Amino acid sequence: MAIDTEHFRIELLKERERVQAALKNLRDEHPGSIEDEAEEISGTLETDHLGENASITLGREIDYTLTENSEQVLSEIDQALKRIEDGTYGTCGACGKEIPAERLEVYPWASLCIDDARRAEAS
Ligand SMILES: [Zn+2]
Repeated sequence: MAIDTEHFRIELLKERERVQAALKNLRDEHPGSIEDEAEEISGTLETDHLGENASITLGREIDYTLTENSEQVLSEIDQALKRIEDGTYGTCGACGKEIPAERLEVYPWASLCIDDARRAEAS
């Protein structure tokens, strides 16, 4: 076996805990509806005006992005853990090639090789 899945399983579980803690913090800080805030933000940005409350708006936007990203990462971590169970972990979901361990060290939840990840981003 080329990839030490047990090592990555531990990394994924650690990352999962970290992301869940971050998500909990974000939600505790903003108990209100995230969707409402997002609309507010895009409206503010469309005016292309950096008013005096710009820093507040920017802070909210970052929080919103963090929440969205964290949820995305969390679901990717769960999928990666499932792939470890299935024995398909470390294999590119698009071309079937092995994902280099260096890439998995940075993104243990990666499901695509670098080439296919770039392709997916570009499309
Ligand atoms: Zn690939």
